[in-house]
Amino acid sequence: MSGRVKVMAVDDSKTMLAMIAAHLKNSKFEVVATAMTGQEALAKYHEHKPALVLLDMVMPEMTGSETLEHLLEADQALCVVMVSSIGTEETMQHCLKKGAKSFLQKPLLRDTMLATLDEICQRAGVAS
Ligand SMILES: [Mg+2]
Repeated sequence: MSGRVKVMAVDDSKTMLAMIAAHLKNSKFEVVATAMTGQEALAKYHEHKPALVLLDMVMPEMTGSETLEHLLEADQALCVVMVSSIGTEETMQHCLKKGAKSFLQKPLLRDTMLATLDEICQRAGVAS
């Protein structure tokens, strides 16, 4: 075991995926998979079984909200953190009701992100 928490990052922007990977470098979190669509996220979830998913709200085809539903169907206890932009507050609240554990606001700041993920892992009992 690597001892790091397995993370999947989902965003339709390559820049965002690179930023998430950079923020999580040298942390207790390890990006084991990335996906740029909801469909890809579902396939990669089953392949890599991450403990935590960072999920973009606004994506073409399958939205973050729809992707969340499918991920939670696969694993009700999965820790999903929504990543939202300005203007998506209402949808984000809806996602929290559906079972997302928390949310992060873009632009992503490293310290905020690590603190939020740490807190969720503690709350959900995800061991590093
Ligand atoms: Mg997006």
